[in-house]
Amino acid sequence: MKKIFLAVLMLATFILSGCGSQGKEESKDEPQATAKEDTQAEAAQDVKGNLKISMLNVGQGDAILIQTGKQTILVDTSDTDERDLLVKELEKLAVTKIDKLILTHPHADHIGSAKALINPSKKELSANPYLEKISVAEVYDNGISASSPLYKSYMKAIDAKGTTYKALKVGDTLDFGNSVKFNVLYPTPELVDAVNGGQKSDPNNESVVGKLTYKKFSMLFTGDAEKEVEASLLANNKTKDLKCDVLKSGHHGSYTASTKDFIAAVNPSYVLISCGPDEERRNTYGHPHLEPLENYLAQGIDEKNILCTRWNGTITITSDGKNFSVQPENNEDWVDKWIKKKQKDKKK
Ligand SMILES: [Zn+2]
Repeated sequence: MKKIFLAVLMLATFILSGCGSQGKEESKDEPQATAKEDTQAEAAQDVKGNLKISMLNVGQGDAILIQTGKQTILVDTSDTDERDLLVKELEKLAVTKIDKLILTHPHADHIGSAKALINPSKKELSANPYLEKISVAEVYDNGISASSPLYKSYMKAIDAKGTTYKALKVGDTLDFGNSVKFNVLYPTPELVDAVNGGQKSDPNNESVVGKLTYKKFSMLFTGDAEKEVEASLLANNKTKDLKCDVLKSGHHGSYTASTKDFIAAVNPSYVLISCGPDEERRNTYGHPHLEPLENYLAQGIDEKNILCTRWNGTITITSDGKNFSVQPENNEDWVDKWIKKKQKDKKK
């Protein structure tokens, strides 16, 4: 019976990791896997017991869902005018409880739906009825207060609902359940105090940065952190502590992030970028930019392992803590074409 089960599990793993040319299995040790008491359907659909990370296709903003089997964590909530996309994605993944909502920094393309998730109004519910099914247990941010109505609205929602709230700083560790940990690498308490004390705020460079680890698997979450933060991370961490299997490209693939030195230290085998199509007014920036892409390739990252929601749709990582696979919704080879276009634009 066990043998049959193992065969089924291996088949499911093969199907999951092998449907697309980009959905490659990264083998670290021996081949996958110890048999768990899952049914075939569960193994194929949800990889139960494993870690699942989905960079959601929400347009120009950021929203990354982490499901550990014990907890569901959402990192950022995209923009207000991208709410329909976010809620659709959460509904597709049958998310009802968000155990931890992490807001990297208070720009609109990251906290756009925080308030509506925590304490939706009647209007918000009538626009997106699925919001009624979702509850948020705990909220985390960088502890730097902002003056925007969006920031104030989610702080008010936390108060109204009595939601647990905590500010994250370097050295904190969040337990995501099932041996999945999130080590906070940024911001520093000195920075938080200085900005709250009146120093001019630079929200991108106050982003919560954290390294998620699940046994041997790791992913770096960067929010919109730019070169300044990357330099600080390099100065304050050992290279081996920055090393990750997967990097969330800082600041939507902007040239303001992803320096050569930083990419060399993280040395990821996959890079995931979140940004929207050009025709959407949000990506007037032309993300992703040429320089980060060139830096990724120069570091030896396989072109097929650079994925972007703009072309690849929602990108899903699954890991059993030993191996991992990355599965884009759409298998589109865009990197080479996009680099050529960007190089041509540069010459104009
Ligand atoms: Zn952003």
